[in-house]
Amino acid sequence: MTQALLWFRRDLRLRDHPALAAAAAAGEVLACFVVDPRLEASSGRRRLQYLGDSLRQLRDELGGRLLVTRGRPEERIPLIAKEIGASAVHISADFAPFGQRRDERVRAALGSVPLVATGSPYLVAPGRVTKDDGTPYRVFTPFFRRWGDVGWPSPARTGRDCARWLDPAQMAVEHCEIPDPGASLGLAAGEAAACQQWGAFLDDGLERYARDRDRPDLDGTSLMSAHLKFGTIHPRTMAAGLDRGRAGARSYLRELAFRDFYAAVLYHWPASAWCNWNSDFDAIRTDADSRANHRFEAWKSGKTGFPLVDAGMRQLRQTGFMPNRVRMITASFLVKDLHLPWQWGAAWFLSQLTDGDLASNQHGWQWCAGCGTDAAPYFRVFNPTTQGEKFDPTGDYIRRWVPELRAATGVHLRKGRGPSGYPPPIVDHATERAEALRRYRDLS
Ligand SMILES: Cc1cc2nc3c(=O)[nH]c(=O)nc-3n(C[C@H](O)[C@H](O)[C@H](O)COP(=O)(O)OP(=O)(O)OC[C@H]3O[C@@H](n4cnc5c(N)ncnc54)[C@H](O)[C@@H]3O)c2cc1C
Repeated sequence: MTQALLWFRRDLRLRDHPALAAAAAAGEVLACFVVDPRLEASSGRRRLQYLGDSLRQLRDELGGRLLVTRGRPEERIPLIAKEIGASAVHISADFAPFGQRRDERVRAALGSVPLVATGSPYLVAPGRVTKDDGTPYRVFTPFFRRWGDVGWPSPARTGRDCARWLDPAQMAVEHCEIPDPGASLGLAAGEAAACQQWGAFLDDGLERYARDRDRPDLDGTSLMSAHLKFGTIHPRTMAAGLDRGRAGARSYLRELAFRDFYAAVLYHWPASAWCNWNSDFDAIRTDADSRANHRFEAWKSGKTGFPLVDAGMRQLRQTGFMPNRVRMITASFLVKDLHLPWQWGAAWFLSQLTDGDLASNQHGWQWCAGCGTDAAPYFRVFNPTTQGEKFDPTGDYIRRWVPELRAATGVHLRKGRGPSGYPPPIVDHATERAEALRRYRDLS
């Protein structure tokens, strides 16, 4: 019987796993994961924890038959493939710049053993949704229309029992411990938790999703982002569970399309990970002096004196999560009230978020900064106080994360005035808004 290697990466599940189906069809399967020190260093403790917890569950689910080894994939994968005489190495495709380069190196190092990519972490993989002339979309709405037309297949029927798994215990390849940095996560990791969370959201959250998704006080979203990031569930499984006729289903699908859109944008413009997608913004003036550093520290630690901004930044620091509306408000504040480079904020988010994802994060930031695809017009500057009135009308979200304001009401809550221990605003919003618009006008 021939033997195949299944190399797990951002697909830490057994259900709806097209690459597993392809590997199982090829023969006996050895499951492996390579702990790449470069990713370990850039993951942030929470993502590393989520990864480790998910790997432990995957290993248990496979009865221990998961080989975990540390090193450069271009060295480890050919070594393991040789050890079992693999006819092929199977993967789910990775479209991020780092993953693409890594896979090219592994492909070259494997020589005559093919690296076979089947499936991707997306509903519609990057590169598949293009205009009639084959060029990529720069605007979400027409992308979304075409994305729906392209569509996706039904979930793959896979699971633990679909393959004959090889036992790595006797293999000469060096094993390593699964990472366990000791970070506390606000959510359970792994495939079972992802399925459970999704089921609970379908039962209790979907109906009110369209109405409540912008309300941080109501916890109106699915909390599926970290599961999607690590592929403990495939978005296709989720889409299959969405009854399109149900309230909330279309809005939810639209968000999954946003995820695909940003992955596609990063795929087509890999430099946009850290550079302005719209290079017109390269000339915008940002601050980087010692006062800017001081403001950045206040923003990171939730001590700007703007209650909604501080609530979001404290939630992020304490839990590794922040709701989308608050991500937009805190990002806008960093760029347009503090005049700091969006890259500073994006890097901080990536260091904290459990769901930190290069495509969604960098392009979420560029949207807020005005320099991305489809961007919010630069002159539209979020007012953190009125945003709070609109999206946290009772103030419960602020009170949950800013204990100094727990007893405050009315203007005292909104403006953070009065209570001792809460900092005064570090800037005047109206003044900084005018300054942001001045800097924007200087571009033309
Ligand atoms: C500045 C900024 C940074 C962001 N950084 C990330 C990030 O690092 N990782 C990440 O997954 N999302 C990021 N987002 C998008 C969004 O905020 C999160 O996906 C969402 O808050 C996750 O919570 P949820 O799963 O409850 O979302 P839900 O509202 O339940 O959405 C369902 C899923 O759709 C996708 N989605 C929703 N909104 C977006 C969006 N605007 N862009 C792309 N995908 C979306 C996510 O996969 C999400 O899990 C960012 C947005 C902004 C404005």
